[in-house]
Amino acid sequence: MGIFRHSRILHQASWNRDCLSNSFDSIHRDTAIDVIIAEHVLREQVQREEARNIRTTACEKSMAAEDQKTQSENVKSTLEHALYRAVSMLEPPNKLVYDALRRDPKWFMRNPLVEDCIDSGGCCSRQCRCCAERCPLGAHKGQGHCTSECWCCAEFRGYELSSQQKKDIRESMEARLRYRGHCDFSPYLLRMASGFFSPSKPPKPKENWWFRTGRQA
Ligand SMILES: [Zn+2]
Ligand SMILES: [Zn+2]
Ligand SMILES: [Zn+2]
Repeated sequence: MGIFRHSRILHQASWNRDCLSNSFDSIHRDTAIDVIIAEHVLREQVQREEARNIRTTACEKSMAAEDQKTQSENVKSTLEHALYRAVSMLEPPNKLVYDALRRDPKWFMRNPLVEDCIDSGGCCSRQCRCCAERCPLGAHKGQGHCTSECWCCAEFRGYELSSQQKKDIRESMEARLRYRGHCDFSPYLLRMASGFFSPSKPPKPKENWWFRTGRQA
């Protein structure tokens, strides 16, 4: 217990090596990883489209085949459905927190996620404010911090990453989420899961009914 008493930050559950928990809730690590990856992949696609729109001239846009637009929308809707499938596996307390957080279009400007963007050299590490302003009206899916597809990060870097480099970055992210070190948990997973699933305020007792009846002795 110790420092984690009454904490909203997720840590590895002492009673199950495959679960992350805080003082109010718990979540299976595989379920958390599936949602984090599904959101990341959708975000890549949204940022890929954003970059294409920014780089394509008006003339090219008018000449751009409707096919390309349709293809891109198809990819996006496939990824949205993949995210839906991952989110549908969240248990009731986690789903409540997940939905409550995402009612705020700027939900992803939470410390753990901003810190990760800063550490990875994303837009939050500079003054451009891209992430903070990446929040259109309404809570659109696929909004969040920079991925390898961020056009502003590419401008700052001075070159576009190759497909292989983007693939390597994605695979490295997945490997870090699934990593089990000597303490049997991934620090990266704890950080990301805290950003994705820890409540912004302690849940009211009645919102916590499933957890109480499901886990308390
Ligand atoms: Zn930026
Ligand atoms: Zn960026
Ligand atoms: Zn950011």
